[in-house]
Amino acid sequence: MITAAIGLDRSWVDDAACLAWTHDNKPTPWQVDKSQVIDRVRGSEMIKMALMVCASCKAQYDCAEYAVKGMMRAGTWAMGITNLTWLQNQQNPLDLIRHARRNSLTVNAYINERRLS
Ligand code: SF4
Repeated sequence: MITAAIGLDRSWVDDAACLAWTHDNKPTPWQVDKSQVIDRVRGSEMIKMALMVCASCKAQYDCAEYAVKGMMRAGTWAMGITNLTWLQNQQNPLDLIRHARRNSLTVNAYINERRLS
């Protein structure tokens, strides 16, 4: 069980664009793995849609910080899990998120660019 998220600030959740999303008690696009298939829709397609929502979400920087500090290992948290895993292994993950925030860059796009550079 992940316990690193216990006690972290979650006030940003009120601004989360995914907050009101429900899916008939099935995993939401932020909760699926790319290999899953839900109602004949591939997880990879659901994640693409989730990331489109994240790209305009006001909470994306706080969400990304939460996922780093909370050591999240699955799901979509302002960025895809490949980018999040890479970010968690950097020496300065929060600085990278803060750079994206200062420059109004989309978290997933910025981290993806850094990971591939
Ligand atoms: S960035 Fe994405 S996962 Fe994070 S709160 Fe916003 S919509 Fe939800």
